[in-house]
Amino acid sequence: MKIKFMGATGGIVTGSSYLLQFANTTILVDCGMYQGEEHVERLNAEPFPYDPAKVDYLFLTHAHLDHVGLVPKLVKHGFTGKIISTDATKSLAEIIMMDAAKIQEEDAYYRSDERRSNHSNEHDDGGGQQAQVGGALYTRADIPAVMEKFETHPIGQQIKVTSDVTFRMREAGHILGAVSFEIWYTSSQGRERKIVMSGDLGQTGARIIKDPDFIREADYVVIESTYGGRNHKDKNSTLLEFLAILQDAAKEKSRVIIPTFAVERAQELLYEINLFVERGLVKGLKYFVDSPLAIKATEIFRMYKNYYDEDAVSMLNAGDDPFMFRGLEYTESVHDSRRIAGERGAVIMAGSGMCTGGRVLHHLMNALPHKDAHIVFVGFQVPGTLGRRLVDGATMVRIHGVDIPVRAQMHTLNGFSAHADQHDLLYWLRSFGHSPREVFITHGDQTNRTILAQLVRDDLQLNAVTPEPGQEYELD
Ligand SMILES: [Zn+2]
Repeated sequence: MKIKFMGATGGIVTGSSYLLQFANTTILVDCGMYQGEEHVERLNAEPFPYDPAKVDYLFLTHAHLDHVGLVPKLVKHGFTGKIISTDATKSLAEIIMMDAAKIQEEDAYYRSDERRSNHSNEHDDGGGQQAQVGGALYTRADIPAVMEKFETHPIGQQIKVTSDVTFRMREAGHILGAVSFEIWYTSSQGRERKIVMSGDLGQTGARIIKDPDFIREADYVVIESTYGGRNHKDKNSTLLEFLAILQDAAKEKSRVIIPTFAVERAQELLYEINLFVERGLVKGLKYFVDSPLAIKATEIFRMYKNYYDEDAVSMLNAGDDPFMFRGLEYTESVHDSRRIAGERGAVIMAGSGMCTGGRVLHHLMNALPHKDAHIVFVGFQVPGTLGRRLVDGATMVRIHGVDIPVRAQMHTLNGFSAHADQHDLLYWLRSFGHSPREVFITHGDQTNRTILAQLVRDDLQLNAVTPEPGQEYELD
């Protein structure tokens, strides 16, 4: 079997994609979008380093954009196989891809508009819709053809896909429906082998969803390393810090802006705030989920309760809806989003999570110059994004072409992370009773992947490899 490492290697965190070539079957695991710095995002337009028509199956670990964002491009470029995932991943992937398509259409329209105004005497309307979406990798019209290719399976079921490949999905504890893949195959030497693709792993004890499964055996493991270099602050201190920010905002009637990832983080925050409000720990604040994508994702969370952990299930059984409480409003329309912009005594959760676009930008423009405003980061900020610049202490930022002074109070609550930290990753690797022959470390920046690789060698006495983009390995 040959594995080719593409995205999420060479110190790049995004663009997850791995090509697994077995004797009779070719499987692509994830087909993610590159996000962050310009030179990284430019990779999205590069041709695939394989022929999509020759890929039999696409296995999706979960629905985050950096794992599913290029699936429509794959289909447009000739992929005719099946997409294997959980049902929750399928539902979430649909709204994530739709949203990405919409952003690309808008960007392409904006670019063509600019072009038109630069060449206004050419009397060229640009050829209608075609030109308006020129430059987009795909549009919303491409998504239905993608959805037809899905084949969903439950977690834990062993499924034989072809004569030489069998797989099973396992709980990854990262976001709703997220899995790791166990894949059994026959090597070119005729040996029975198994490779495990971790996908993104979550923290043990995270809210709503179940904890990651521990997997007993593997010959080869591909593991993410987003937080391979450090440990999160513990969850309780994160919650106390969050509560203190909310109490402060309630007292001062100030505002709290939370750049929120639409899937998982938004729902997890609602879950925690619901507990604070129900217990009377914070009073007098208004809460807004100001993100159409987060609203849709919350609806999907309501649909798939079979993925919830015991605490979330018993909360539901007791009649408490974690996604609805006093003071909470879902603002879907642009009109409502504008209405709440100047609101005080308010907590606004808006996308995008790394402040690269979306409604959070106009809330930041409003809030950043004010000393009493709080900006709360609750997720990983990729280098090159506005979120990262704010976290790194920028005193002036440019939003929509306007220079905005930063006087607001910045908070980073990384205990909310949907990612396993260094301790969790090593613990997960330790569970392999039968030592893997090789551990491939991906999905981390240079620092994080290098530190994790060293620990895997020193503490676990395993071979650790940090692949570069395009590198291929023969696994016998
Ligand atoms: Zn993820």
